[in-house]
Amino acid sequence: MANKTTHNKKNNNTKKNFRGNNSSPKKTSKTVTDCTYKEGITVKELAEKINVSASDIIKFLFMMGKMITLNTSIDDDTIDLIAMQYNVNITKEEVADTNSLEDDQPDDPKDMQLRAPIVTIMGHVDHGKTTLLDFIRKTNVTEHEFGGITQHIGAYQTDVNGQKVTFLDTPGHEAFTAMRARGAKMTDIVVIIVAADDGVMPQTKEAIDHARAAEVPIIIAINKIDKHNANIDKVYNDLADYGIIPEEWGGQTMFAKISAKSGLGVQNLLEMILLLAEVLELKANPNKLATGTVIESKLDKGRGPVATLLIQNGTLHAGDCLVAGSSYCRVRKIIDDKGREIKAAYPSMPVEIVGLNSVPEAGDRFKVFDSEKKARQVAQNREEIKIEAERRNSNGMSFDDIAYQIQEGNLKEINIIVKSDVAGSAEAVKSSMEKLSNDEVKVSVIRATAGAISESDIMLASASNAIIYGFNVRPDAKIKKLAAENKISIRLHNIIYKALEELEAMMKGMQAPVYQEVVLGQATVRQLFKVSKIGTIAGCIVDDGIIKNGCSVRLIRDGVVVYTGKLGSLQRFKDNVKEVKAGYECGLTIEKFNDIKEGDIIEGFEDQEVKEDNNAN
Ligand code: GDP
Repeated sequence: MANKTTHNKKNNNTKKNFRGNNSSPKKTSKTVTDCTYKEGITVKELAEKINVSASDIIKFLFMMGKMITLNTSIDDDTIDLIAMQYNVNITKEEVADTNSLEDDQPDDPKDMQLRAPIVTIMGHVDHGKTTLLDFIRKTNVTEHEFGGITQHIGAYQTDVNGQKVTFLDTPGHEAFTAMRARGAKMTDIVVIIVAADDGVMPQTKEAIDHARAAEVPIIIAINKIDKHNANIDKVYNDLADYGIIPEEWGGQTMFAKISAKSGLGVQNLLEMILLLAEVLELKANPNKLATGTVIESKLDKGRGPVATLLIQNGTLHAGDCLVAGSSYCRVRKIIDDKGREIKAAYPSMPVEIVGLNSVPEAGDRFKVFDSEKKARQVAQNREEIKIEAERRNSNGMSFDDIAYQIQEGNLKEINIIVKSDVAGSAEAVKSSMEKLSNDEVKVSVIRATAGAISESDIMLASASNAIIYGFNVRPDAKIKKLAAENKISIRLHNIIYKALEELEAMMKGMQAPVYQEVVLGQATVRQLFKVSKIGTIAGCIVDDGIIKNGCSVRLIRDGVVVYTGKLGSLQRFKDNVKEVKAGYECGLTIEKFNDIKEGDIIEGFEDQEVKEDNNAN
């Protein structure tokens, strides 16, 4: 879409089809042959520019399967169709994007300084990626750093012969392909790990493809050479067949033979990385405002939205105002990969930041602005643009009963919004769900982000008839009410494969699995009583539904599930009771859990045999 600027009337091959069963275009007397437009142009505005009645365009697009209104802004592909239909050359005006988070300030060569190489390790599952990352992390830190090393922020820096190397620890499972693809884009070097006892496998090839597509140089690490059935020659041959030729054979690629388990050869691999980094002459300018990429993000129980950033240029200071995706903040705290609070972060450093107003997505770009006002404005603009784009990507069909409509062959696309407590899992769910698409039904995940289900999610679901899938997040009473008013289905799960099973069943026009969790009701914690021997008793008011003795409960804080377990006891006025209805107060305990806080929501649920819905509505 980005590089398509002119929509040419001369492309006549498809023009005929567009006219097929449509009434012929009505042009007014004043013929227009050329016009220009800016991103976001509406149907009405374009109609005026090309001198065609807007209702004619709407009718034409309806015939093409697109439902739009006068004030819908249209995308480039749709404009392409219109250009062909009405024989007009329509050219896009490229305007400087003031909302861009790219590093667009040129660097003075004298400011450029060497920076640490950023390395991603990729490979087939079980070939030893985690073992290698752990070995490097554990062996290349100094004593005093060791305390904080257990914490995991998705990336770390290590010391090799006095020089730093940054490792990105991107998830290895197949479902994370999408994120790994991004991982490859923010790295300078990809180490592809191949187990010598298993050889080149599908994900090895996939990793090579990603690295090649991103034009990132590769180092091969042949792992598990300690194993008796290691067959190094076979790995060499398999890789050569795939176009990866080792230097020893006159090729371009460095090969290291290692045992990630014992550490044999790992130092040599690290030195190869430094050698390659030297050749690549990796530099950045620390004397400017920071830009880079979000590696990971999550909604933390205590700290709110937390993001791990990779600084790619400039220096990030505590107190800086930044925009990440469409979130913004004045950076409250910068924490390095060893868990220490620091004042500034330099190019190639991975750091965690606290203070964002919402959770950005892994892979989002970030940029520091010179004022909080500017950052807030850019973030708001980006949020609006994002919502508009999401709306455009959804197709505006209407349906009541998805399974029924699929069975009837009426429904060809299911729109889904995924919300989860961690951005990585939202991504994983998105890619797994979209893979369920088949010839009859397409699954489109139109939004996949971390955080509680919000009003904006309900609005988007309503505009696009989407189902909302929540993982480890719970809608509060207000959101549930809004969802019910808008007839939005919210499906809540803790386990990805169960959600996939349910969706698959629905796509086959079947009902969801027989046993499903049913939410009984919710109560808000008003007061806490600590009683020795018993623990924390929560004085609650039941907001809706009922809370039943012995039911399962989950504790929700700020929209995120903090704990799932069983109700310990349920009392009214010191008497044990079987259930408490909405509007009544009660005292309750949660089995084996005492960390209850005022304002927490306690949701009661149980597994019931149901035919319809585990809907939160
Ligand atoms: P990942 O899925 O690529 O992250 O693989 P892991 O690091 O989890 O390793 C998979 C299994 O292989 C684990 O049981 C490791 O202990 C084992 N493993 C990893 N590296 C070596 C090695 O060099 N030698 C041997 N013998 N086993 C290894």
